[in-house]
Amino acid sequence: MSTAKINPDGTLKGKVALVTGASRGIGEAIAVRLAMEGAKVVCTARTAEAGESRLPGTLNDTIDRIRVAGGEASFIKADLSKAEDRERLVEDAKLIYGDIDILINNAAVTFFIPVEDFPKKRFDLMMEVQVWAPLHLSQLVLPAMRRKKAGAIVSISSGAAIHPVKPYETARAGGAIYGICKAAIERFSTGLAAEVYADNITVNAISPGLVATPGVAVHGLITEATKHRVSPVENIAEAVYQIVSRDPKDMTGRIDHAAPFLDEFGLKPSDLV
Ligand code: NAP
Repeated sequence: MSTAKINPDGTLKGKVALVTGASRGIGEAIAVRLAMEGAKVVCTARTAEAGESRLPGTLNDTIDRIRVAGGEASFIKADLSKAEDRERLVEDAKLIYGDIDILINNAAVTFFIPVEDFPKKRFDLMMEVQVWAPLHLSQLVLPAMRRKKAGAIVSISSGAAIHPVKPYETARAGGAIYGICKAAIERFSTGLAAEVYADNITVNAISPGLVATPGVAVHGLITEATKHRVSPVENIAEAVYQIVSRDPKDMTGRIDHAAPFLDEFGLKPSDLV
């Protein structure tokens, strides 16, 4: 039986977290995990209610899951491909809970199309949501973090950021643009980590491994050949929680995969409420 519960006096008590892509999948799990430690969580995505997306999962479901368990969460709908939505998101989050202490850049829109056929419009959308939005949201939350001399930014990366190696059997056809986005987010994270180090603000990137989410189902990424690699969503939720909770002078500028990160610190993932 699961012993998962919300601890309102947990290590994140008094902290405000903003989690993007929290209507389903990995973002939902991260929002739940941070709430379990007492954070007030602002969940954002485009889908608030059932029927607004062809995929399962809504922001309402995520905050209900947290609230029913005794945690604190609210949602703000936003399309992260739009600058005005990103600005409104951070302003409204501040009105609900105050300045953001923890920003989780998790949302992604992904198209797997070979380079030769990749349309510019889709490239621009992926770059906007996966690269520019995390950078812009960081710009919007950093002034308050600088004032407080504390804060944490985590972006969700992917093994796709790593260069394919011969004999290329495992390189998924059409993954080059996704790889570009994730390589960019990793270099962004290490670069920003260095820029804000003096103010005790941490910036990290973590890859989940292969996790069974609605997005992964759409892309058919779990097959006979890959199913042995599927890892529980709890791993990435735990790794994110741990990385935002540790000594900011040590725990910054890291590019990690969730499972080896947990192994490095001898951690087991908590169940989720
Ligand atoms: P998912 O199931 O497809 O969920 C994606 C989330 O992003 C949804 O909440 C979606 O919400 C949101 N989103 C997409 N476009 C958006 C937009 N324009 N504005 C606002 N929100 C938007 O994905 P996932 O599998 O949980 O993946 C989460 C992250 O992990 C991504 O960065 C992904 O690249 C990374 N990752 C996942 C895996 C895996 O195996 N699952 C592996 C490596 C890396 P709405 O549709 O409601 O807007």
